[in-house]
Amino acid sequence: MRRKIIAGNWKMNLKLSEAKQIALGLRNLSTPNHIDVMVFPSASHLLSVSEILEGSKVKVGAQNAYPSSLTAMTGEISPDQLEEIGIQLILVGHSERRQFLGESNEICNQKIKYFLSRGIQVVYCVGETLAERESNQTFSVLSEQIKKGLFGVPSDQFKHLVIAYEPVWAIGTGKVASPEQAEEAHAYIRKEISSLFVGAQTIAESIQILYGGSVKPDNIASLLSKPNIDGGLVGGASQKLDSFLGLIK
Ligand code: PEP
Repeated sequence: MRRKIIAGNWKMNLKLSEAKQIALGLRNLSTPNHIDVMVFPSASHLLSVSEILEGSKVKVGAQNAYPSSLTAMTGEISPDQLEEIGIQLILVGHSERRQFLGESNEICNQKIKYFLSRGIQVVYCVGETLAERESNQTFSVLSEQIKKGLFGVPSDQFKHLVIAYEPVWAIGTGKVASPEQAEEAHAYIRKEISSLFVGAQTIAESIQILYGGSVKPDNIASLLSKPNIDGGLVGGASQKLDSFLGLIK
């Protein structure tokens, strides 16, 4: 059985004091064994948040990193620097980075291959825009994001990969995909992964696929009741302690 994941993407929204307060509220969390919890604070909050959550059930990840060891690359963060503070989890391809910062499928691919080759866990985000959905391109967009983003990833490294299906039209808009729409996309993503190479069928069955887009405590249960939805990547509702706890509950 695939484990469930509840992941909070705090984006660039919180002040340090707010991030620390949520982390303190999560520190003593006792979740059922089949649920993992992740948080993705801003880069400047990673050290404080990971110190608070050290030894807890909550895994701390970075919202971004550069695919290289230490080098001259102004403004970026290397996984070497993340590992120094115990971070071994990185988000790749979030739609805000794709839309506003030019993170293409090719760049995602470089990052995914580099991070996975170092044994770092990756949450890879994919999803179509509203215009793409309305012009019946949802599946071709997802297919391209999966095929290009995961091109050349060795089969033994998929165990550190999680996919997040996040339809862009549902992110931060209050418009959640229906459980049926999400399930259809998740099943399609699984099928695309199974066709990546000979033998990928087992990987496709075991890989966790999270849904993201206006997930709230009151809609998460219906989404997670679907067989191909293994958890949520949550923005807004993870940025307040009570609603984050509500999601986990
Ligand atoms: C996200 O940023 O990954 C996200 C899904 O945001 P929200 O839950 O606010 O729609």
